[in-house]
Amino acid sequence: MTSFHQSPGAPRIAVIGGGIGGLTLALALRRHGFSVAVYEQAAELAEIGAAVALSANATRELERLGLGPALAAVSTEPTELIYRDGRSGARVAAHPVRTGGAYRARFGAPYYGVHRADLQTVLSGALAGEGLHLGHRLAALDQVGDAMALTFANGVAVEADLVIGGDGVRSLVRRWITGGEAVRYSGTSAIRGVVPMGLLPSLPDPEAIQFWMGPDAHLLHYAIGGEADSVNFFAVVEGPQTWTSERWLAPIAPGGHRAGFAGWHPAVTEMLDALPQTQRWGLFVTDPLRRWHRGRAVLMGDSAHAMLPHHGQGANTTIEDAITLAELLAAGGARDLDRMMARYQALRQARTRTIQRSAWATNRLLHLPDAAGATALARRDARMTRFPEDFGWIHAFDARATVDRAAAEMRAA
Ligand SMILES: Cc1cc2nc3c(=O)[nH]c(=O)nc-3n(C[C@H](O)[C@H](O)[C@H](O)COP(=O)(O)OP(=O)(O)OC[C@H]3O[C@@H](n4cnc5c(N)ncnc54)[C@H](O)[C@@H]3O)c2cc1C
Repeated sequence: MTSFHQSPGAPRIAVIGGGIGGLTLALALRRHGFSVAVYEQAAELAEIGAAVALSANATRELERLGLGPALAAVSTEPTELIYRDGRSGARVAAHPVRTGGAYRARFGAPYYGVHRADLQTVLSGALAGEGLHLGHRLAALDQVGDAMALTFANGVAVEADLVIGGDGVRSLVRRWITGGEAVRYSGTSAIRGVVPMGLLPSLPDPEAIQFWMGPDAHLLHYAIGGEADSVNFFAVVEGPQTWTSERWLAPIAPGGHRAGFAGWHPAVTEMLDALPQTQRWGLFVTDPLRRWHRGRAVLMGDSAHAMLPHHGQGANTTIEDAITLAELLAAGGARDLDRMMARYQALRQARTRTIQRSAWATNRLLHLPDAAGATALARRDARMTRFPEDFGWIHAFDARATVDRAAAEMRAA
């Protein structure tokens, strides 16, 4: 059995998964002087080609971790958030983001489009490999007295006082906590890609984040890279009704990537056609969990609340989780782990559940069929016009300030 290098009295903290959540948590804990072991199944941290949109609720935390300049160097701030009719291309609603400094002025932190590999490089670069154990796939966990026993597929065995499951939507830690499987196919699927800007001559407002909406489908894109030289897109359709593959990806027949987008604006079809597309992603979500912790194991990120990506909040809420856990542990939670985990669940469950639900509702709005009628379509357009008023609360959230209030209550109790 290997052991932790840990100062006397401090809990031995094991994070399962070196994804966006696990790496952010390790950095946030290190900032408070905790040493932590991160166990990642992959032999190297290599993200597949796709991007992520980071909103102020996450970027304010990454800036507080000292990552602001490194992140800015590899990110693009969208000019505007624009909703369009997918077929005519008509602007339905538009809200300034970078333009006039509107987003930063309102939320106090930037909105970024960033390549996932770049985000991972920024996070892992700051961690500099400290406590990161690659090639460690958790195979089993169990409680032994007050501690957790972890066994990895490579034969390594470890004991920890606290296990944090940042092991994604198919989490093993979650299966141990809930005793069952809680992941569900959403009935929607997507193709995605990163396209060089030069291949998109018909694209209006190329540096905006844009939703193109139509019956049973939508396409979202935003520019990424320090020079906004590429566009990340994500084209979602209803169906297939069931997902039989054990994997995220299923092969598509030649031309199948266009299914759902016949007759759409050339900006959309250029994006779909820019790269060879051979696979479709199933979109999976986590059912709302009653408990996020059991024994000395607790969940964070997709393992706890994987959501449809229509608010672009999976990674952002994962970063909020990481900050919440680190701040609670630093604020005395390390001395009373059971209370800390209960407090963490209380702080995180309602917010993430509300965003999960809202992402489902947004799916229906984005995919409204023509048959819904002119009144329903006008109501949709009005919702998109009110987006900043209706959904500003997602971006305005300040995880650290929220924990500070909870920590003050913890100290007073
Ligand atoms: C198509 C798509 C587009 C998205 N776009 C956005 C967006 O624009 N904005 C946004 O905020 N979110 C977005 N998301 C969601 C976002 O990617 C996730 O919510 C986020 O990555 C969750 O982070 P995580 O750390 O919980 O999990 P992951 O990033 O999935 O990391 C989990 C890690 O755990 C490791 N692991 C798994 N099992 C084990 C094991 N047994 N032992 C050891 N390691 C293990 C995995 O290898 C992985 O590295 C999108 C998601 C999808 C699918």
